[in-house]
Amino acid sequence: MILIENVRLIDNYKSEVDILIEKDRIIKIGKNLKDNNLKKDCTIIDGKNKIATPGLVNTHTHIPMTLFRGVADDIPLMEWLNNHIWKMEAKLTGEIVYWGTLLGCIEMIKSGTTTFNDMYFFIDDIIKATEESGLRATLSYGMIDLFDEEKREKELKESERVIKKIISLNNPKIKPSLGPHAPYTCSKELLTETKEMAKKYNVPIHIHMNETIDEVKKVKEMTDKLPFEYLHSIGFFDGTKCICAHCVHLSDEEINIIKNNNIGVSHNPISNLKLGSGIAPIPKLLKNNIVVSLGTDGCGSNNNLNLYEEIKLSSILHKGVSLNPTVVDSNTSFKMATENGAKLLGFKSGVIKEGYLADIVLIDLKKPYLIPNENIKSHLVYSFNGSVDTVIVGGEILLNEGNLTKLDEDKVYRMAEKCYRKLVDW
Ligand SMILES: [Zn+2]
Repeated sequence: MILIENVRLIDNYKSEVDILIEKDRIIKIGKNLKDNNLKKDCTIIDGKNKIATPGLVNTHTHIPMTLFRGVADDIPLMEWLNNHIWKMEAKLTGEIVYWGTLLGCIEMIKSGTTTFNDMYFFIDDIIKATEESGLRATLSYGMIDLFDEEKREKELKESERVIKKIISLNNPKIKPSLGPHAPYTCSKELLTETKEMAKKYNVPIHIHMNETIDEVKKVKEMTDKLPFEYLHSIGFFDGTKCICAHCVHLSDEEINIIKNNNIGVSHNPISNLKLGSGIAPIPKLLKNNIVVSLGTDGCGSNNNLNLYEEIKLSSILHKGVSLNPTVVDSNTSFKMATENGAKLLGFKSGVIKEGYLADIVLIDLKKPYLIPNENIKSHLVYSFNGSVDTVIVGGEILLNEGNLTKLDEDKVYRMAEKCYRKLVDW
C-alpha cells in the first residue's frame, strides 16, 4: 500500500489531495486518507509542492537502439538503415540488447514514461530487462522477410514463440504484440499470416506505415495501391487492432481507411523531422476522430526517449505548419502522450482516477521553469524538460526522489559503454 499525501493533480492543481494505492491500482483519491485504516506497511510519500501526473505512454520505439545514439546523424533514412543501422544490428547479441534495453528503461523512468510499445529482436533479452526495470510494456518481435519464403516461416515462428512466452510469464505489466516491420519489407503472405495470428492470440499489431515518400512509391509500384489501400485490400485490418507508426504521407482515401477501421496512429515528430521524412497531417487525423498517440522511435533517429520533447513539438510543429496557433492545443498533446497511448495499448492507465492502474509520476514544482505554479498543464507541455522526481508503475516505486530503486544505474551505464564499443569496432 502506498499513500501519496498532499499532492496536486494536473487537472485540479489548486487544492491538495491524497492518493491511496493498493496493489497495482489507485483505490482512493481524497482528503486526509491517513485516517482510513492504513495497513502497517503502507509507504507514505510526501507530495507537498509536487504535481501528480499520469505516467507517459511511448507508443513507438526500439529500445535497444539507445546504443546507436549519435552514430549516424544527418543522413537520409535508406542510407541510415543500409549503411549504418543494419550493419550495427548484424553485430548485436542478446547481451548487448539486454544492456541497451536497461539503458533505455532508465532514460524513460527518469523522464516520466511508464509504458512503452516496442518492436525489435533478441526479444528474450528485452523481456528480461523490461521485467527487471518494472516498466509496463507491449513487446513485439520485429519481422522482416524481404519476400523470402524460408525467412517468412522463421519470422512467424519466432513471433508465435514470443507471444506464447510473454503469455506464460503471467506478468500483468507485459503484453505481447505482433510486429511486421512495414509493407515494403514484408511479403503479402507474411502480412496475411500476421493478421491471422493476431486474431488467434487476440494481440495488437504494431507496424511502420507511410513513413517516407519513397516507401509509399515503392508499395505503389509493387501493388498498384497506396500502403493503407493495399493492406485494406488484403483484409489486414479485419478484426485486428493496429497501431501504425509514423503515417506521414497519407492520401484522403487512406485517412478514411484509418478512420473506418479504428486504426491507432503513433506520431513520431522528432524522428520524422530528423530523418527528413516529413510532417504527419495530425490536425487532419484529429479532425477525423482518429486516436493519435506519441512515440519517440529508436534513439538512432531521435536521439533520446524523452517523450516530453514530443509533447511540446507535437503542439508547436502543427501550429507552425498550418499557420494556425489553435491546432493541437496543450490538452490534446498531453492526452496523446497519456490517455490515448494507454487506450491504444489496452492498459487501464493514462489518467489518475480511482480504479485505474497506479502509473503515477510526481514532479517537483519548485523549479524555475514551472513557476509561477499556475497553468500547470501548459508548463508541462511548453516549458518542462522531463526531469521527474518520483515514478510509480503498477503500485511499485521505480524512482524515489530522483533515485532508481530497482536498477543499478552506474553498472548499466558502464555496461552500455562497453556494448557500444563492440558495435562500432568493425
Ligand atoms: Zn520505428
